[in-house]
Amino acid sequence: MNKEIRKAQNIGLCFGVTCALQAVHEYAKDHKVIVTWGDVVHNSLVMDGLKQMGVQVVAAINDIKSSHIIIPAHGVSPNIIQAFNERRINIIDTTCPFVCRAQKTASAYGKKGFFTIVYGDKNHAEVKGILGWSGERSLATKDISELKKILNLPLKIGLLSQTTQKPSDFITFCQQVTELAYTKDSRIYITDTICHDIRKRQQAASELAQWADMVVVIGSPNSANTQNLLQLCSSITHAIQVEKAADLIADMVAGYQKIGVAAGASTDDAAINGVYEKLKSF
Ligand code: SF4
Repeated sequence: MNKEIRKAQNIGLCFGVTCALQAVHEYAKDHKVIVTWGDVVHNSLVMDGLKQMGVQVVAAINDIKSSHIIIPAHGVSPNIIQAFNERRINIIDTTCPFVCRAQKTASAYGKKGFFTIVYGDKNHAEVKGILGWSGERSLATKDISELKKILNLPLKIGLLSQTTQKPSDFITFCQQVTELAYTKDSRIYITDTICHDIRKRQQAASELAQWADMVVVIGSPNSANTQNLLQLCSSITHAIQVEKAADLIADMVAGYQKIGVAAGASTDDAAINGVYEKLKSF
């Protein structure tokens, strides 16, 4: 029986990553030195391509020897921006509008005296940046038990999500926080800050997984939305993650007839088509 291979309906670079990469290429037209603050997108193949065209990645202020810096799509905290300004470093800001929305939400919570809780991975660069916008009275977690350890939760709590989280998980978390913290005179504010592209991408991957015997999710291990897609597909059918065609071997798909292909928001067409063609060749 022949294999059937289908790509997800929503696949390819997202709007935010596309804009960030365009900004880097635009800057590269007139400048020999191109410096980014960390990886401008979370995809090692895309980053390898940028490095080959001369992009330098720095992670410490003192390592910046250029007069400019490119801020990545996942944004930075205001204290980093302040440090750039103090050193008169020109900023090329590629922060995605959806990340900006989360940052502005966190900032508004902080200014209104709300304790901000970010539903997300506290070690992820985007979340670190968002926490910086909310101020000191904030934390990031995906685990309600961490909040249970806080004896007196503040009466005013503002909830928001890392842009790439699963909406259903965020809703469950908000319900848990409400059950834990809702008391006399409390105010709990919830803002949906999940990216629109991610919602569509997850929906498309979920539909694909319901059709498929297995799904190949393409993306880098440090891409949060790729990991969430993998988790989502794994909850429905067999799913594996690869970065590129070379990671695939025939044994991985042996015995599967209906194979789906999904990809993270920073996985480009070259990687997607490479995996797709390799799957067809088995
Ligand atoms: S995944 Fe969404 S939030 Fe992240 S860069 Fe893309 S469009 Fe922006």
